[in-house]
Amino acid sequence: MTDKKNLWISMAACSVAALGILAVLLFGVKPFTAAERRIINQSGNVMYVTVMPQDSAVLRAVSVDLSARELRSEELKTLADKMLTTVQDPSQDGVGIAAPQVGINKRVICVQRFDKPGEPFEAYYNIHIDTLMGPLKSGREGCLSIPGYYGSVQRNETVVVRYVDPSTLAPVTDTVQGFTAVIFQHEIDHLEGILYTDRADSLWQTN
Ligand code: ZN
Repeated sequence: MTDKKNLWISMAACSVAALGILAVLLFGVKPFTAAERRIINQSGNVMYVTVMPQDSAVLRAVSVDLSARELRSEELKTLADKMLTTVQDPSQDGVGIAAPQVGINKRVICVQRFDKPGEPFEAYYNIHIDTLMGPLKSGREGCLSIPGYYGSVQRNETVVVRYVDPSTLAPVTDTVQGFTAVIFQHEIDHLEGILYTDRADSLWQTN
């Protein structure tokens, strides 16, 4: 009798799982949350940049990897384009930006590659630090989300990062050195909810 009851429970569980899979196949799972899609699809190419302390919830949260569907989505292309426009806009004039700084807790950053010819800005998806190497060096840092301040922060000279190639979606590792390595460390910290002020030896106001 118990075996029969267990069988019915198993069959019911299988039916619920099958219905769930069917629903996903029929209706799909939209990339990004509704709130994230609202931010991405807002009119204008320069996005609102989150600032401390009023936007601390999004700036202090840990960001998650983009799903396979999000990696292939138009929304991600729009987000990366708008982040690239925002960081280079004269109102910001930054050297890097991370998705939490536009209100989205997904692992997307843009970095100015001072180590490449023409010093282009590039976007990186599902980026993580693989290895930190080399001596620690002190340098001056600022942050679009903490306007009016600079600080002295110790960072590793060399960083190995891993991310997903935007066109092939294949995993890539890249070894970066010098000031560009500092930008990568600063932006990837944002994805962990860490701000440079957490690491700074000293802080000072710009004016
Ligand atoms: Zn920052």
